[in-house]
Amino acid sequence: MARDKRLDILFEPVEIGPVVARNRFYQVPHCNGMGYRDPSAVAEMRGIKAAGGWAVVCTEQVEFHHTSDITPFIELRLWDDRDIPMLARMADKIHEHGSLAGLELAYNGLNGPNFYGREVPMAPTGFPVASFSYDPVQARSMDREDIKNIRRWHKAGALRAKQAGFDLIYVYAGHAISFLHHFLVKRFNQRTDEYGGSLENRVRLLRELLIDTKEAVGDDCAVPCRFSLDELMGDRGLERAEAEDMIDLVAEIPDLWDFVLAGWENDSRTSRFCDEGGHEKYLEGVKSLTSKPVVGVGRYTSPDRMATVVRKGLVDLIGCARPSIADPFLPKKIEEGRLEDIRECIGCNICVSGDFTMSPIRCTQNPSMGEEWRKGWHPEKIRPKESERRILVVGSGPAGLEAAHALGKRGYEVTLAEKTTEYGGRVSRESRLPGLASWARVRDYRVQQLGKLPNVETYFDSELEASHIFEFGFPRVVLATGSRWRRDGVGRYWLSPLPARNGIPVLSPDDIMDGILPEGESVLVWDDDHYYMGGLIAELLALRGKRTIYSTPAVEVSAWTRSTMEQHFIQERLIDLGIEIRCCRNLESLEAGSAELACIYSGRSERVAADAAVLVTSRLPVCSPFSELMARKDEWSGAGIEDVVAIGDALAPATIAHAVYSGRRYAEELDGPPETGDFVPFRREIAELSAA
Ligand code: ADP
Ligand code: SF4
Repeated sequence: MARDKRLDILFEPVEIGPVVARNRFYQVPHCNGMGYRDPSAVAEMRGIKAAGGWAVVCTEQVEFHHTSDITPFIELRLWDDRDIPMLARMADKIHEHGSLAGLELAYNGLNGPNFYGREVPMAPTGFPVASFSYDPVQARSMDREDIKNIRRWHKAGALRAKQAGFDLIYVYAGHAISFLHHFLVKRFNQRTDEYGGSLENRVRLLRELLIDTKEAVGDDCAVPCRFSLDELMGDRGLERAEAEDMIDLVAEIPDLWDFVLAGWENDSRTSRFCDEGGHEKYLEGVKSLTSKPVVGVGRYTSPDRMATVVRKGLVDLIGCARPSIADPFLPKKIEEGRLEDIRECIGCNICVSGDFTMSPIRCTQNPSMGEEWRKGWHPEKIRPKESERRILVVGSGPAGLEAAHALGKRGYEVTLAEKTTEYGGRVSRESRLPGLASWARVRDYRVQQLGKLPNVETYFDSELEASHIFEFGFPRVVLATGSRWRRDGVGRYWLSPLPARNGIPVLSPDDIMDGILPEGESVLVWDDDHYYMGGLIAELLALRGKRTIYSTPAVEVSAWTRSTMEQHFIQERLIDLGIEIRCCRNLESLEAGSAELACIYSGRSERVAADAAVLVTSRLPVCSPFSELMARKDEWSGAGIEDVVAIGDALAPATIAHAVYSGRRYAEELDGPPETGDFVPFRREIAELSAA
């Protein structure tokens, strides 16, 4: 299909200093939890983005010196020449597809505790490190010699990046992660020499590094500057007006401006807290500050919106991290007019959790993310079927939908049976909760794709029992029947049902999602799950006018959402809604009108008034008809059944990303070598042993 003319603007080339981007799609630097530990995996992932049409594909932050390591996080390094080959592999992969390779040189300073190298961190002013875990480390203030050194090291890093083949070499001053950001911002920079105090002084080092980098590599490589427009903390931090004055001082030195918000959690907010294009109000007017091209992000997945922001002159290049993770082929699909094939990012930040848990990046929408090299998975391609055996998939939640879609793409005959009258399982249910509407994209993309597969048939209103499955006689049966939230309190604290819970209505998140509102005025939500659901149920109940008490054994609300950078926003929202928050409390008992909560440290208990309770603790797999089928294994061959497997939440409840991955994995491995557990089922790199 031809592309709409209005989108042509997205395919215009853009000059960036000495290099030319072939279109306006720019994959900004993003972390991935693989870094120096999994260099070939990162290289392949970036190469696939280039194949998908991104004109510029960047690395994550690359530490250019060993006095700044952000351990335990796993980012790339260019500490010395020995690091060049792993970076060169990535640049080569990107170049194979005609894209430009960008590298973000980073020095964390205050943001890194240096646990690996054990060097004393250096910063404009010696404060305790501002890492994510209150590390008991203080940085020392840099003296003039240190500043001279760091300029030399940055230059050496730029030359190594060039040697590795990169076309854009960043000076990184954004996100409150870079030492340059710390030099720029008054509260971090309390120096009294020529690098502190006045605006000119605080910008001095940025100017010097921009000039140094241009002199070192600028003939062949573009030098972008990544810069924070606002820290969103009012006059306690960097504000727009001051940022503009700073930009004014160096506006024409870099070849490109990559504008961000600081810190990272403000820049990459989840869809629960920020819509597509949420950065536009901050990007407004930035192009008038410089004649150089500008890149800005906004979790853009809508081609029209992208064309509009370019046409309106807000940015020159569409910066994307998450949209390029969810769909590495986004530019190609737009270019070819295949808009319905776009796999839109849902803004859940599971990708970010890969970085925070130091595990290879994963994505809810794109199960191949992080598995391109490790497993040879591709976001768009999958090998053809290797047998004619028909497959029955039971359940159309994220696991069942992904399995049916991927199996269908392989060419298998697939029958998808769904008990209800709608696709999507938990995704459909959860997307109706406050702020999660875009999660429905997990369903919508797959349903759209199923429409193109005549070999996949769906039957709604079909609750299957074991007897039906024996009757049908499909050789392969995949049970993606999902899970249900428990109502008995079993989770991490209670491993057997909460003994005393009488005389009070007790509900589960499923009840709430089914539209049941607890009786009475006040409701206790006890969260022993710790991801988003407990906080979300409390939010919903408060919005429905209930006096809501949120309690959890954790030290904070929705504790795991630190890994998705939402924790702060969730707790703030609950406070704003007037929800009474009681952290560090175990739920000991429930009775008519009250709950007994005990301090997790002292055991001292208190009674809180509650007319009802919602227990958000854990889920049970829906084991029907799986367990009956397994119990009647000896009847399989008579019915023509060869194998039966449970996938997704029906196997073990976890995130939606896990469910999608599980569906994809089944489809990828079908008719492949049997998975016996006797070998590692993915590729990995092992550090080369030294001679002695
Ligand atoms: P997952 O996250 O693993 O995909 P979900 O709970 O989202 O799991 O989806 C499970 C889906 O399976 C739901 O749409 C549910 O209606 C459907 N389902 C559950 N049991 C049956 C059954 N016996 N027959 C058909 N569909 C079922
Ligand atoms: Fe988007 Fe979620 Fe995928 Fe990240 S994990 S790219 S936020 S869909």
